[in-house]
Amino acid sequence: MPTLKIHNPATSELVDELPADDASSVARKAAAARAAQPAWAATPIAERLATVRRFRERVVVELDTLATTLTREVGKPIAQSRNELNGLLPRIDFFVEQTEGAIRDEHVFDGGGMHEQIGHVPLGVVANISAWNYPYFVGCNVIVPALLTGNAVLYKPSEYATGTGLHITRLLHQAGVPAAVMQALVGGGEVGAALLAQRIDGLFFTGSHATGVRIAQALAPRLVKLQLELGGKDPTYVRADADALAAAESLADGAMYNTGQSCCSVERIYVHESLYSAFVDHFVAAVRGFKVGDPMDPATYIGAITRAPQLDVLDTQVADAKAKGAELLCGGHRLPGPGQWYAPTVLTNVNHTMELMREESFGPLIGIQKVRGDDEAVALMNDTRYGLTAGVYTRDEARARELLARVNAGSVYWNCCDRVSPRLPWSGYGDSGIGLTLSTQGIQTFTRPKAWHLRQP
Ligand code: NAD
Repeated sequence: MPTLKIHNPATSELVDELPADDASSVARKAAAARAAQPAWAATPIAERLATVRRFRERVVVELDTLATTLTREVGKPIAQSRNELNGLLPRIDFFVEQTEGAIRDEHVFDGGGMHEQIGHVPLGVVANISAWNYPYFVGCNVIVPALLTGNAVLYKPSEYATGTGLHITRLLHQAGVPAAVMQALVGGGEVGAALLAQRIDGLFFTGSHATGVRIAQALAPRLVKLQLELGGKDPTYVRADADALAAAESLADGAMYNTGQSCCSVERIYVHESLYSAFVDHFVAAVRGFKVGDPMDPATYIGAITRAPQLDVLDTQVADAKAKGAELLCGGHRLPGPGQWYAPTVLTNVNHTMELMREESFGPLIGIQKVRGDDEAVALMNDTRYGLTAGVYTRDEARARELLARVNAGSVYWNCCDRVSPRLPWSGYGDSGIGLTLSTQGIQTFTRPKAWHLRQP
């Protein structure tokens, strides 16, 4: 039987070795989900809601254990693991409060003997292939609304966050979701690929652009509903009228939180020349203040690099930027092991010939570029194949709204960054993805519309 080994990226120690799936167990699980889904869809919505409320209660009771598992398998600082779990609770609340209304029949026309209504029908069996960096968020953004709307879920957590994925699955079972309706698949990309080969009614993916494209290609001949939540190269512009200190502290956090391993980490900063040097000084001071070290220490802010290959990406981006004239203000190198570590890194005098300003870094690495004005900043922000988030720091709300309207990104921020709200749709433009999660649209996305044309005899 195949197994999956989980290592702690902060220590290189073996955390767990789990029995893994293979093509035949994936097929069995998919068949069981198919058989179980109609009864789950027929379960009254009140009962499905009560089940998810019990799941939420279990999360609260086990929060310490869940946070520790997450920190041990991905190297996330323990305070940030707890933040993720505490942030999960209002997301669950949102789905519980909004699902019934979002999928209620809509009566849209009555006249001439005709009645028209829109129904919302569960997709059926949905697959969720997930990332490791915020496994509670990205897993539950799909799993919770998919279950609430009457779907069965085949969930392939990341091979780097499988302990967390198994906790989510166990807690849902304990809350009363039938075992066949919610199933986890254990393994890496090959198990994900085996899942794509099953009869599924929707594929909801969070991960890299490269894998997303591979999945889209695999599913294209079968026209399976597809959502892809992919990476970004998220820019922020600090205008001449901004508060340099407040912007620097906020953006240092936005760039380095979760050790820079967030899909919506700030990845590029453009600063007006009039406050550039003050901003850079404050920014570097803030970064130097971040405690790097043992992720189990509650004071730690920068943890381990979860995937070892990412260290090469960071090294390459730093070397490329330096070779093209960038100035290294701090970091720029790996830190000694055991485990995988990278020093928080700030580069200035950067430009768009550098990989650092074009491709996702996904680590504690940031480039800061000087600009002469708003038009140059907007042009640079839009000079990307991605479009997940973008932000502007300024005292002028009207100007912020005008600039953000011109930026191609699914989420835009005024005087804030690296923020997700359950009430707002989470989506990427361009190579950052297709489809969306969260908001009431992110509930309806797990259903298909049914148009009813009803004529009285
Ligand atoms: P990844 O693409 O390496 O892996 C994602 C998932 O795909 C894993 O579960 C993996 O096992 C699976 N997989 C790999 N190959 C596969 C294949 N051929 N067929 C099917 N499944 C396969 O990404 P990752 O390292 O887990 O996540 C990091 C990326 O995710 C970053 O680019 C980040 O920006 C992005 N991300 C995006 C969002 C968002 O909401 N837009 C959120 C979190 C992370």
